Amino acid sequence: MKTGIAYFTSFIVILIMSTQQMTANTLRDFDPTASTREPAPFYEALAKALKKRKTKVENICPSSDPVARRILEEYGAIFLADKKVVPPPVCVFTNEAQVTRFQEQAGYESEFMSYDHVELQPAALKQLLKAREEAQKEGLDITPRDGAEAARRNYEDSVRLWNSRFEPALEYWLGQGRLTAEQVERLKALPLSQQIAEVLELEKSGIYFSKDLSKSILYSIAAPGTSQHIAMLAFDVNEFDNPRIREIMAKHGWFQTVLSDLPHFTFLGLKEKDLPKHGLRSVEVNGQVFWIPNVPSPHPGIDK
Ligand SMILES: [Zn+2]
Repeated sequence: MKTGIAYFTSFIVILIMSTQQMTANTLRDFDPTASTREPAPFYEALAKALKKRKTKVENICPSSDPVARRILEEYGAIFLADKKVVPPPVCVFTNEAQVTRFQEQAGYESEFMSYDHVELQPAALKQLLKAREEAQKEGLDITPRDGAEAARRNYEDSVRLWNSRFEPALEYWLGQGRLTAEQVERLKALPLSQQIAEVLELEKSGIYFSKDLSKSILYSIAAPGTSQHIAMLAFDVNEFDNPRIREIMAKHGWFQTVLSDLPHFTFLGLKEKDLPKHGLRSVEVNGQVFWIPNVPSPHPGIDK
């Protein structure tokens, strides 16, 4: 009798287990990504990624600084990159010495590519060269846009490039009567951090500073000290409008992460299918897919 009960119990246990197994299998058939690739909010994924690097978001980008937070939400994808690379210790570098120190610590390698030296963090460069090799096998190529500037930049470069958008835009809006000569002079004389803050404030009323004056300057050039090029994890590609090239870049961990900056690719070293769980969401602009921080933020001049 005892044996009978034991048999019966085992039978029930096995029955329950196999039912559970069947349910699990059925669920997996419906959605193989269900438990492993849930999209995560940016700040949640960021906190996790930074914890692994023994830091936190307050250290790199204090919440008391709205400009730094805005920049983090526009260019912050690099902070989620694979552990083979080193993201910057801050959202906004404020001087050349600080940039030099970071670049030396993170390390970079140089490679002669088409006609120029390209300098990137070693893991990023390695994958870029692999992508290029794959492109070349198909009769295509991946080449640096605007020479050496396509990859590593220093602090001074980022200030010069900012001015290449900031100054002509000031002239334009002065001509349009939207800014007075006095305002223009004052803006030019401001310390950089304040200048960035005021430019972003003016853009709220449609006074845009991008090259074509139709959208935020942040989609045209990085604010000084914030470029992913300073982090040596960005590369501007001449052949960006070829969908196959974008596919090959993505296969090697290189993605477009800055809305509307079309030639600009960022090395994340992650698989495309995993990006949502790393706090990024995809946005399609003119047929190109951008992976941007998954935050409910407006994108001035882009989200209509
Ligand atoms: Zn770029």
